[in-house]
Amino acid sequence: SSDRETRGFQAEVSRLLHLMIHSLYSNREIFLRELVSNASDACDKLRFAALDHPEWLEEDPEPAIDLAVDADAGTLTISDNGIGMNREEVVENLGTIARSGTEKFLASLTGDQKKDAQLIGQFGVGFYSAFIVADKVTVESRRAGDSAEQGVRWESDGQGEFSVETLTVPHRGTRITLHLRDDAKDFVDTGKLRNIVRQYSDHVAFPIRMAVPAGDEKEEGATELETLNSAIALWQRPRQEISDDEYQSFYRHVSHDFQDPLTWSHNRVEGNLEYTSLLYVPPRAPFDLYHREASRGLKLYVQRVFIMDDAEQFLPLYLRFIKGVVDAPGLPLNVSRELLQDYGPVRKIRAALTKRVLQMLRKLSGDQEAYATFWQQFGQVLKEGIGEDGDNREAIAGLLRFASSTSPTPGSVGLDDYIERAGEENKRIYYLLGDSLSAAQNSPHLEVFRKKGVEVLLLAERVDEWMMGFLTEYKGYTLVNAARGELDMPGDEDDKAEDPQQDAPVLGRLGDVLNEQVEAVRATARLVESPACLVLGADELGPQMRMMLEAAGQ
Ligand code: ADP
Ligand code: MG
Repeated sequence: SSDRETRGFQAEVSRLLHLMIHSLYSNREIFLRELVSNASDACDKLRFAALDHPEWLEEDPEPAIDLAVDADAGTLTISDNGIGMNREEVVENLGTIARSGTEKFLASLTGDQKKDAQLIGQFGVGFYSAFIVADKVTVESRRAGDSAEQGVRWESDGQGEFSVETLTVPHRGTRITLHLRDDAKDFVDTGKLRNIVRQYSDHVAFPIRMAVPAGDEKEEGATELETLNSAIALWQRPRQEISDDEYQSFYRHVSHDFQDPLTWSHNRVEGNLEYTSLLYVPPRAPFDLYHREASRGLKLYVQRVFIMDDAEQFLPLYLRFIKGVVDAPGLPLNVSRELLQDYGPVRKIRAALTKRVLQMLRKLSGDQEAYATFWQQFGQVLKEGIGEDGDNREAIAGLLRFASSTSPTPGSVGLDDYIERAGEENKRIYYLLGDSLSAAQNSPHLEVFRKKGVEVLLLAERVDEWMMGFLTEYKGYTLVNAARGELDMPGDEDDKAEDPQQDAPVLGRLGDVLNEQVEAVRATARLVESPACLVLGADELGPQMRMMLEAAGQ
């Protein structure tokens, strides 16, 4: 039409397209998952918007997603009757890259093809994945509430430019036509599409339908619509009816991950604060686990209406790696992030979900291999909980893993293991902080512990000293820093036999020489082979803590 215009993609879009087409080739069927997921998001948004505009649903009240193929033309069409887009939105959403996942993705690219290809797995690759299988993509859309004449068509060959023009579109929603590449023509095969939908999109909460040849009694060429997915929200179904496969595929849906989760927990809570939660532990930390703006939190639904992604108010910061859904039918449908922040029922759900996650991790710790993976990926974040969550400190402490003087493999010793080996006689858990595990391992502070056969936990992570400031007790045992003040070890009396008078001249001379550099020089029973070592006073800041404070400018 007359108002057709052509625009260039942002340079980043071209970069993304190139990378995607080349590195996702062996996984290219994921384009369908991405387009169906966008259609499902659009249906969610429509339902949400219809709370204020019930008239938008009048003509066409049931959100659905339709697939259609044309083998002769070599096209696959994905349409939805969701929220739709107007011209500005099309340009904004499908022309630039200033959008959620994609922008972060580009920011984290390394330039190393192999590493970058792995990164792709961690992101929703989104709309542009259509170009993995199509050399031309046509989008026709009409926003809910707009008239037919306000429709829009967007088209691109993925080579750097796209066109937009006004178009009369008879129905609300979006229709995406993929002109399949020569080597991707097999995506007109309805059997193949059915399998892909079942594999990746079964849990989508709206029907995904496809026109398939009708049964025998119909005339030649007739088709009927087959619903390909189960189309009810997975978390609404009873636990015992859901297979592991279904849970895993739902995880891939909510997390955009390619891998299976380590574990999950699905619960319905009834009573005056009713809610359902389905929480997953991912197999791998996201690249931005430590970024302040990283997305975190759960998908929130109220009365089956999708309300928001990344509802971070339902779990504490140190559990930010958990993925999943919370459906709380008792919350008002118009909840905002601000309201959630300080809302009594939300605080209660958060406290309950926190305990659930800790229980789920406790259970996971029974599976050594899986827990080792978990610990390696998320252990550092969990440690933040020791300081942040006093209410659950002991439960979190039970999940910690360490290396020790007798078991030097990182992550091989839990506090419960330590206690079991140490016995009841001396209710102390000794630990030593070091700049590295090998430094701790070789520290002269360990000599006396080795001699007495007492195990010492070895800690060498940045957060450890901060954490140990909060962790002073566990199940009635006191945590004692092996490099500080008095040690109170079993059998210490035997070591005091030597004559203190005998040491006095040496101590005096050392004190004079070291002068201002030390607070005191003492004789000790700590050392077995080394002649001397430095210890911290009982209340002094340790070296890691000092470094952290200095780095923070204090
Ligand atoms: P993301 O889904 O992570 O936002 P995508 O690349 O998949 O990124 O989609 C980009 C944006 O395009 C979406 O956020 C949405 O605003 C818009 N969009 C894509 N597909 C549709 C659709 N079928 N209906 C309405 N809007 C859509
Ligand atoms: Mg998307």
